[in-house]
Amino acid sequence: MNFLNSLLLLIAFQDPQQARIYDAERHIINAPGIEILEFAKIHGYTARVYSDPWFRQRYPQARQPKVVRGVLGQNAYSVGNTIAFPERACNFHVLHEIAHQLTPNNGHGPKFARVLVDLVQHFMGERDASILRSLYMERNINWLQRPSGL
Ligand SMILES: [Zn+2]
Repeated sequence: MNFLNSLLLLIAFQDPQQARIYDAERHIINAPGIEILEFAKIHGYTARVYSDPWFRQRYPQARQPKVVRGVLGQNAYSVGNTIAFPERACNFHVLHEIAHQLTPNNGHGPKFARVLVDLVQHFMGERDASILRSLYMERNINWLQRPSGL
């Protein structure tokens, strides 16, 4: 087995939902609540999320991350207490990186997926959250849903 295959196997083992989450996210990009943010607006958007009363009550320990320009092309990512973006990103991708901040060591696992659904519901609206839940369910993604489907 070559190095790349070993690496892909390691990623699949450590983050088994990643490919399905990314596939679901290719479709959410068409959701009605999607907004494109220039890089200069991402810090303000992040600050609004972290100062939102619902968010503060739900995640009282959360520390607002530093927002930086990424070094991985068009990819956004989260490292430590920093989130990184290309020159523009949509509000959903900012919420995706915030979900990583709130669920360290979970990769794209069930806790991450659940937190992202909740963030989308609160900051983008029920219509977009409903689309995201459907995309998850179609792909058999575990997102810690309650029996009610919420
Ligand atoms: Zn991610």
